[in-house]
Order: sequence, then C-alpha cells, then structure tokens
Amino acid sequence: MIPISDLRKQIAPIRVSIDEAIKKVVDNTNFIMGAEVKELEAELASYANVKYAIGVSNGTDAIRLALAALGVMAGDGVICPAFTYYATAGAVASIGARPVFTDIEPDTYTISLPSLEKAIKKGKRIKAVIPVHLYGQCADMDGVRKIARKYNLKILEDTAQAFGATYRGKKAGTIGDCGSVSFFPGKNLGAFGDAGGVLTNSATIAGKIRLLRNQGNKEKYFHSLLGYNHRLDTLQAAVLKVKLHYLDGWNKKRQENAEYYNQQLKDIASLKTPFVPAYTTHIYHQYVLRVATSSQKLIAHLRSKGIDARVYYPVPLHLQKCFKDLGYKRGDFPESEKAAKQTLAIPVYPDLTKEELEYIVASIKEHVK
Ligand SMILES: *Cc1c(COP(=O)(O)O)cnc(C)c1O
Repeated sequence: MIPISDLRKQIAPIRVSIDEAIKKVVDNTNFIMGAEVKELEAELASYANVKYAIGVSNGTDAIRLALAALGVMAGDGVICPAFTYYATAGAVASIGARPVFTDIEPDTYTISLPSLEKAIKKGKRIKAVIPVHLYGQCADMDGVRKIARKYNLKILEDTAQAFGATYRGKKAGTIGDCGSVSFFPGKNLGAFGDAGGVLTNSATIAGKIRLLRNQGNKEKYFHSLLGYNHRLDTLQAAVLKVKLHYLDGWNKKRQENAEYYNQQLKDIASLKTPFVPAYTTHIYHQYVLRVATSSQKLIAHLRSKGIDARVYYPVPLHLQKCFKDLGYKRGDFPESEKAAKQTLAIPVYPDLTKEELEYIVASIKEHVK
C-alpha cells in the first residue's frame, strides 16, 4: 500500500537528532513548560515572521484559546466554512459559542466571500470569522479582511493545514488577528503526539493566551482568569524544534510532487487538478483532485491498486448529526456538498519515490482514460 502519509520515512533520516532532543528532556525531567517550549515559540515566531507564537496542546485547543482571547463569549456566533475538518466548528461549540456556516469557493475549497457576507447579515451577535486555509493554501484574506472590517469582526485563521504557506508574501496565520496551528503528527509539521500553537502580532492576545493555556495562572496558585490546561508538552516542543528545520524542504518536495501530478493529469478532461490563486502559495497538506460526479469509483480503483486515496471531508459540517440543532439542511451550502462528493486526495507526502508517483499517475489514467 502507498499510504496517504508515511512518517517512518520522514523520521528515519533525522532520528539521531530527535532521539538526542528527547533524551535531553528525559534527563532533566522538565516535562511541563521546560526550556524547549520557550525556545520553540521563539523559533516558530521567527519562522512565521510574527511577534508572538504560543505553544499549546493541539490545534483544536489553539482555536478555543484564540477565540476566548479574542473575546468570543458563550452565545456569540462564529463563522466558519461548512467544508472543513470538524475541529474548526467543534472548537467554537466547545466554548459555548455558535458555529455559523458559510459555503466555499468551488475552485479553491476556501471560504466564499458572498456567502460570508450573507451569513453576517442573517446572523445575530456574530463576533468572529474563521477562514480555513484548507489543504495547504490560503483563503482570500484581503476579501475576508475587508468584510471583517466592515462588520467589525475578529479574524482567526485556521492554519492547521497551511503552516509555512504564504499569502502575498506573509506567512499563513499572521494576516488576521491571530492564527491557530496544528502539529498533529500527520500535518506538514507534526509532533510525536498532539501539539499546536497560536500566532499573533498582538501583545494583548498573546498575553491572554499564555494565561488561558496554563490555568489562568499569572503566578503559581494566583488565577486571574478562568483558564484551561492547554499547555504544550516539553517533549513535543523538543521534537518540533528538530523538525521545524526541515519543514521548508518537505513542503518543497510536496510542491514538486504536486507539480508532477499537475503536468501528468492536466489534459484529462474529466479530472480537475488543484487551482492555486496568485495571492497564495500551496504547501499541499493534501493534493486534491476533482471529478465530475462521484469520486467513489476512482477511490475504489486506486485502493484496489494499493494506493490510499481518501475524501477530506465526506460530510460537510452543516449535515453532521452533532450540529443538527443549528437547523441547517441539505442544499444550504451546495458547493460544500458537491466538494464532499466529487473530491479525492491522493498521496503527496515528501518521501514518495519517482516510481510511486509514476505508478499513481498510471493507475489514475487506467481508470479515467
Ligand atoms: C487538524 C485540524 C484541526 C485540529 O487540529 P488538532 O491538532 O488535531 O486538534 C483543526 N482544523 C483543521 C482544518 C485541521 O485540519
């Protein structure tokens, strides 16, 4: 099987440095908020060219903390696309706020601006919008910022899939009020377990997130805010510090693999390769193809050939059972519903060999002709 990602291959060449970094933490036993957390935060901030990076427990908690720091309260509405991973909206609901969904643009799978404006006009107490940089490329941030300014909304960029991508030269996650990042093992920069971060240029937001992630502790046993335990483990920070040096190289390999697919598949009329607008780079967390009707047959064919093709995501959020109380129905977001049916992701991870890439292309061509 050619898997959708292969961490063994990624880790093998850097294993010695990672083992050393882990050993150092185990030797000094500073497992909670050890030096590596601060060091990683400084390196992440410098990498993203942003004033503050705060390490947290995972990408979902990064969204929770960011929204709380932005002043989102229970009962407030927070807008996000219906076509994204569950956690974007799950995090909103987890702090008692209300997810308010929008549709997506059919060519980029990112938030639709007309749909965003419609949701704001129709919605009540809308406080913030979460554009999701889905699959590894940025949403139209100038458009989102213009609308957010008009209606006085805060912007949290869900950068879980796009850490390292750029929007008009700026790093994803640093354009809105803040950006949440996930270091889930399968993300482009992955820890050895759960981990995440928040990026921001605001000292106020950064300060609030630092408090909130650590029990609202300004000083030990003095709690100025109702905080959470959403800290980043020192061990994860140590692993991430080693891996961060390789991120750009890995992303470049993903881009080369994507370019190969684009060239090989561009003349197949029944397949649509990813569209990347001029304002963004794409770091291909996923390489997503689109077919005219249902992607299920092509997926089944690829699987029969030993290729792990998948749909991200088969059910848009407005149709998820857990959100049924929000009152949405089928047909509310047609582009999200179509994308859930017509798309498939194929392996694009950095360590794919030339032979594997050729085999994947040949297997696709066999089916679509
Ligand atoms: C992975 C992901 C998250 C959640 O990150 P975790 O670290 O798994 O909590 C949130 N949003 C999107 C779009 C993601 O892909």
